[in-house]
Amino acid sequence: MSRYIPADLRRKVARRANNKCEYCRLPEVAAMVKFQVEHIISIKHGGKNTFENLAYACPICNSGKGTDLGTILDDDDIVIRFFNPRKHDWHEHFEITEGLVMPKHLSVQQQLKFWTSTDWSVYWSGWS
Ligand SMILES: [Zn+2]
Repeated sequence: MSRYIPADLRRKVARRANNKCEYCRLPEVAAMVKFQVEHIISIKHGGKNTFENLAYACPICNSGKGTDLGTILDDDDIVIRFFNPRKHDWHEHFEITEGLVMPKHLSVQQQLKFWTSTDWSVYWSGWS
């Protein structure tokens, strides 16, 4: 399957997301970089170039997630799926506290740690 996403589909995905990252909710205008349309389920895992499988993402979230679908909780050896903007309610997984995107539970905290490989709160500061 081709990874090419037609321009009209890209615009439709951006419009659905209100030009915000669907993972961290950063507005594109505040980032001063072009956001990307990414596959929630990557092509290598059978994902398709469909409106339902595409998400609008900032470069940090997109590069952190890559083609991965999940990670492993520290010390528990339990595989967890990443937040899926089509299946999960953002407000049940994240909250914005004093301008920071904060995880509401351990699996989301682990996801953010995996995506950034560092102190994730540094990257998700400065907007609310
Ligand atoms: Zn983001």
